Amino acid sequence: MRKDICAIYAPFHPLTPKYSYKGIFMLLILHPNIQESDPAFKKTMSHLQQLSGVKVKQHEVSGQLQSLREIYLLGDTHALDIEEIESLPAVEKVIRISEEYRILGRHKTQGGRSGFHYQGLAFDQESLHIFAGLCAVDNPKHVEEMLRALQANGLNCTRMGAYKPRTNPYAFQGHGKDCLPWVFDLAGKYGIKVIAMEVTHESHMQEIDQALSDAGRPCGVIMQIGTRNTQNFELLKAIGKQNDYPALLKRGFGITLNESLNAAEYLASEGNSQVIFCLRGMKSEFGAPHRNMVDFAQVPTVKRLTRMPVCIDPSHSVGSRDIAPDGVLELCHATAQGVLAGANMVLVDFHPAPTKALVDGPQALTLNELEPFLKDMEIARKAYLERVTVWQDA
Ligand code: PEP
Ligand code: MN
Repeated sequence: MRKDICAIYAPFHPLTPKYSYKGIFMLLILHPNIQESDPAFKKTMSHLQQLSGVKVKQHEVSGQLQSLREIYLLGDTHALDIEEIESLPAVEKVIRISEEYRILGRHKTQGGRSGFHYQGLAFDQESLHIFAGLCAVDNPKHVEEMLRALQANGLNCTRMGAYKPRTNPYAFQGHGKDCLPWVFDLAGKYGIKVIAMEVTHESHMQEIDQALSDAGRPCGVIMQIGTRNTQNFELLKAIGKQNDYPALLKRGFGITLNESLNAAEYLASEGNSQVIFCLRGMKSEFGAPHRNMVDFAQVPTVKRLTRMPVCIDPSHSVGSRDIAPDGVLELCHATAQGVLAGANMVLVDFHPAPTKALVDGPQALTLNELEPFLKDMEIARKAYLERVTVWQDA
């Protein structure tokens, strides 16, 4: 594209950062491990709360070694004196932010920090976790077979759908809260640390919390928000208002990337910045014969624009078990492409008996395919790490 044409189109590009002076806000990074009970914290907060036209929001970012507390000053902050705020006793550093994706965005002044820890696992832009499991929980036998295979292959994360958003109102809607007690018990039995589970209503989060508590919290749950709910702002706000459970937000299948990233920012703006962003393909006839247009080339794009770990869902993108002439399932080729591009999580459908699956059987891999799938991903991951070193040395 000619440079002058670029200049004309650049301002309209959805990902071009927009500098809005109205929206400038401040991020205050507090001294590590500071507690709410510390006099320095109390003094700082009481000063901030007196600032007129400014809303004060707190975020806790828990790491393995230390927890960091951040404070966001929202609203009319441009008249504030940075030096004065920096001299408050609990404050280590003040950053003015004027770009999009204010909390989740990758702002130059913040360094490389990304992601969060949950259930002893690091979810960030460096790690890779495989969440293989059932699209929909059907019966205890299949769940147990699935989890046993995961444990045998050294995996401690899975996906289990209990609440299924279906196109057809007469289709199986998932077992809902009835299956949670035995799903969580089995997860504990097979050493599962984290389950990605879709929720379509705020009450589902409460049901999951209750069932986990009744079961003695044998595992953790990441609240998955499906592509049909990416812009369900009330659901986003409800999940954003709590910090006990991280969120996995699927991109919307018919909206721009910018709109989906703003949806993620909704979660963070309410207080929960433990968000993983999931690419799952776009609804388009141009992607056919795949179920969706695979969008894994945007893994590095999301990592560049935000600090979120990036997940790929090859099952709902490709949507079939078709095999390429080289003998490799197209679904596995697509997964490898995402991993080669630096994906941090893979959400993938498996089933012990795909023909009997109640949802999405035609795209499920079988338990026999778990071992080769993991070997394939290990090769792709190694190749990704090697690719990075080539460019670091260049
Ligand atoms: C799912 O992961 O089970 C699912 C329904 O995915 P999506 O929201 O991407 O369609
Ligand atoms: Mn599905």
